[in-house]
Amino acid sequence: MRPLTPRQVSLWAAALVAALIGLLAASSQFLLDGAVDPISTGLLAIGAFGISFGVLWYFLQRFVQDRIRAIYKAVQGGRAGSLGSPEKLRMDEDVLGEVNREMLDWASERRNEIKGLRERERFRREFIGNLAHELKTPIFNIQGYILTLLEGGLEDEKVNRDFLQRASAGVERLNKIVEDLDMITKLESGIMDLNIRRTDLHALIDEAIKSIEIRAKEKGVRVMNLVPPGKLVKADEDRLMHVFMNLFQNAINYGREGGYCRVAVEDIDDEVLVEVSDDGIGIGPEHLPRLFERFYRVGSSRSRNEGGSGLGLAIVKHIIDAHGSTITVKSEEGAGTTFVFNLKRSR
Ligand code: ADP
Repeated sequence: MRPLTPRQVSLWAAALVAALIGLLAASSQFLLDGAVDPISTGLLAIGAFGISFGVLWYFLQRFVQDRIRAIYKAVQGGRAGSLGSPEKLRMDEDVLGEVNREMLDWASERRNEIKGLRERERFRREFIGNLAHELKTPIFNIQGYILTLLEGGLEDEKVNRDFLQRASAGVERLNKIVEDLDMITKLESGIMDLNIRRTDLHALIDEAIKSIEIRAKEKGVRVMNLVPPGKLVKADEDRLMHVFMNLFQNAINYGREGGYCRVAVEDIDDEVLVEVSDDGIGIGPEHLPRLFERFYRVGSSRSRNEGGSGLGLAIVKHIIDAHGSTITVKSEEGAGTTFVFNLKRSR
C-alpha cells in the first residue's frame, strides 16, 4: 500500500470526524423527534468536514515542516546544501518518503566524499613518505663524502677528487628528483599545456638517442631507431622527447651488457603504434599493474643503485595520457620489456 500524504491523512481524518458528527446529529434528532432531517444533518456534516479538514491540515503541515526543518538543520548545519528547503516540500506528496530518500542520497554522497578524502590523505602521506625516502639517500651520501673530505680527505690526493665527484653525482641526483617532481606536479595540475605540432618521429628519436649515447656506450647497450625516415605524427616534441629519453634510460639502466633497445612503429588506421622494446632484465608480472605509479620500483635495491628518481614512468604515462593515448607494458623476467603507445598520424 502506498503511504498516505499529509493532505490525504487530513482528508480521511476530516471525513471520519464529519461522519461521526453526522451520525451523532442524526441519532439525537431521531431520539428527540422520531425523524431525521437529512438537509440539516448533511449541512452539519459538511461544515464539520470543512472545519476539521482546515484545522487538521494547518496543524499537520506545521508539525511535519517543523520536524523536517529540524532534520535539515541538523544535516546541513543551517546552510543550504544538496537538499532543498523544507518550505519547498509538497504536502500533497509522500513528503516523509521524499525526505527519507533525500537523506539516504545525502548520506551516500557524504560517504563517498569521506572515502575520497581518506584516499587522498593516504595518497598524500604515502607521497611525502616516498619523497623523504628518495631524498634521504643522496643527502646522506653527499653528507658522508663532504664530512670525509673535511676530516682530512681533502689533503689526500688519492681520494679528494673521487669524493668530490661522488658528492657532485649526489647533487645531480637530487636535482633530477626535484626536476621530475616539478614536471609531474605541472602535468598533474594541468598547468603544462601541450604544444601539439607535426613531428618527424624518426628525427626526434635520433636526437633522443644522441643525448643518451654516452651512457648507452658505457653500459654496452645498443639503441636502435627502426622508424622509417619521414614518419610524421601529431605530438608535443619536447614532451615526446622526454618520453623516449626516459624509456631509453630505463632500457639502458635495466639492460644487459651487449643488449639492445629498439623503437619500431606500425601504422594502424590514422594512428601510429610505437613500440620501445629491450632485451634487458625484464619485470615480474606482479609488478606490472603498479609500474606507472609514482616512486614505484621493482626490487628497490637494484633500481636505486642506478640513480633514477622513481618518477620516470609516472611522467611518461602522464605525457602519453595528455596526447590522448595510453601506454602499456609487456615484460618477461630475464627476457626483456616492451612499452607500447599510439600517436596520431600527421600528413
Ligand atoms: P626509475 O627512476 O627507478 O627508473 P621509473 O619510473 O622510470 O623509475 O621506473 C620504475 C621501475 O620500473 C624501475 O625502478 C625499474 O625497476 C622498472 N623498469 C622500468 N623500465 C624498465 C625496463 N626497461 N626494464 C626493466 N625494468 C624496468
